[in-house]
Amino acid sequence: MNINRTSNPRIVIIGGGFAGVSLAKVLSKQDVQVVLLDKHNYHNFQPLLYQVSTGGLEPDSIAYPIRKILQDYSNFQFRLANVLEIEPDNNTILTDIGTLKYDYLVIASGSETNYFGNTSIENNSMSMKTIPQALNLRSLILENFEEALLTSNLQERNALMNFVIVGAGPTGVELAGALAEIKKGILPKDYPDLDTRLAQINLVQSGDRILKEMSEEASEKAGMFLEDLGVNVWKNTRVSNYDGKVVTTNTDVVFETATLIWAAGVKGATVKGLDADHLISRSSRIIVNEFNQLKSYPNLFAIGDVAQVETEATPYGYPMMAQPAIQQGKQLGHNLKRLLEGLPLEPFIYKDKGAMATVGRNKAVVDMPKFKFQGIFAWFVWMFVHLFFLIGFRNRMIVFVNWVYNYIRFDREARLIIRPYKKKLKSDE
Ligand SMILES: Cc1cc2nc3c(=O)[nH]c(=O)nc-3n(C[C@H](O)[C@H](O)[C@H](O)COP(=O)(O)OP(=O)(O)OC[C@H]3O[C@@H](n4cnc5c(N)ncnc54)[C@H](O)[C@@H]3O)c2cc1C
Repeated sequence: MNINRTSNPRIVIIGGGFAGVSLAKVLSKQDVQVVLLDKHNYHNFQPLLYQVSTGGLEPDSIAYPIRKILQDYSNFQFRLANVLEIEPDNNTILTDIGTLKYDYLVIASGSETNYFGNTSIENNSMSMKTIPQALNLRSLILENFEEALLTSNLQERNALMNFVIVGAGPTGVELAGALAEIKKGILPKDYPDLDTRLAQINLVQSGDRILKEMSEEASEKAGMFLEDLGVNVWKNTRVSNYDGKVVTTNTDVVFETATLIWAAGVKGATVKGLDADHLISRSSRIIVNEFNQLKSYPNLFAIGDVAQVETEATPYGYPMMAQPAIQQGKQLGHNLKRLLEGLPLEPFIYKDKGAMATVGRNKAVVDMPKFKFQGIFAWFVWMFVHLFFLIGFRNRMIVFVNWVYNYIRFDREARLIIRPYKKKLKSDE
C-alpha cells in the first residue's frame, strides 16, 4: 500500500462516511498515524440521494473528495481500497490493493440494503444507497417515460408509469413526494403527447403508519401532504414478491410495474473475518459496548450504522442515522486519545437532536426534542439543516442555487439520461 510506519501508533479507519470523517477530524490533532480506506474516493451525502434520483440535483453536488477533506492533515493517508477481510488475531486487514497492519482498527463501513433474504426482490428492484444506484434510478425513471410514449400497448404503458416504493420511512416518503411533483409539474410539459395522468405513485408500508420512527403528528401530517400530492399510500400491506413485472403483497393488492424501489430495510455492511456468532447482531451490525469497542478485541472499534452499541438502554443500538454516526465518530476520537494517554474510556451518550423529512415543496415535518412543527417553516428548517451538514462550500452553494432555481421555476433540470440503465430481469439471465 506504500505506507511507511511512523513512530506513532497506527489507526486504520474503514469508511469515509459520516462516522469515519468525523472521527478523522478529531484525530487530525493527535500524535497518531491515521490510514483511512474507502472503496469510493468521495464522501456521499446519502440524505440527498433521492434528489439525484429525481433530477433535482447533480450527483457531484452531494459528493465530496475524501482526499480534499484530509489534505490539511499531515498525519493522514488515504487509500482507495475495498476492505475484504479482517484478521483480528493478527492485527491485519486484507484489501483489494494489499494487506495492512494496524495498532487500532475502526470499522465505519456503514450499511447496505436489506432484502430480508428475498432474492427475487433483490434482483429485480431498484435500491438507493449509493450515487451510482441513484443515477441508475434517475435513468430508469426517465427511460420509462420515453418508452411509455412509444408503446401502443396500454397495459405496458401503465406499468411503465406505475411506480411502487416499498418502505414509508424518510427515504420512501421523500422519494414518493418528489415523484408526485414530477408527475404534476414536469411530465405534462415534457410529454404533451402522453396521458401523464396514468402515472401512479404508490407508497407501500407493512405497518399502520408512515414515518413510524417520528411522532404521530409528523406521520399524520406527512400522510396528508402525500395525499395532497396524489400519492397512493398503502398501509398494512407487506410486499411479498416482485418478478420484475408484478408486485404481490400479503393482501389482494397487486401492482403491475416496471419499477419497484426498495426502501424497506438496511443492515450493517460488515466485513468478513469477525466471529459471526458472538460479534454480529441479527441485523448484521457489529456488537460493541458503550465505548464502541468490540468484545474480546480492545483495539477494535465500530462506529456509525455498522455498530450496534448494545447497552441496557439500547438493546438494538442507535438508529441508523447521520447524527449517531457523527457523534460516535467524535466520541471515539476523544476516547482514542484517552486510551493512548492511559486514561479510562468515557461512554458514548447520544444527544438526540430530532428527526425530519420533507414531502415536497413547502411540505416538511420536523420533530425536535422540545418542538414539533410541520409545513413551510419545517421545510425551510429541513433545507437549512441539510445545507449545513453538506461537506464543502462549493457543494453548499450549488445545492442552494439549484433549490432556489427549482423553487422559482417549478423545475428539475438534472433530468438527464447520461448513463442509460437497462433493467435486467432475472429471467433474462
Ligand atoms: C437514501 C438515504 C437517505 C437518508 N436520509 C437520512 C436523513 O434524512 N437523516 C439521517 O440522519 N440519516 C439519513 N440516512 C442515513 C445516513 O445516511 C446514515 O445513517 C449515515 O450515512 C451513516 O454513516 P456511516 O458513516 O455509518 O456510514 P456511511 O455514510 O454509509 O459510510 C460508510 C462508508 O464506508 C465505505 N465502505 C463500506 N464498506 C467498505 C469496504 N468493505 N471497504 C472500504 N470502504 C467501505 C463506503 O464506501 C462509505 O463511504 C439516509 C440514508 C439513505 C441511504
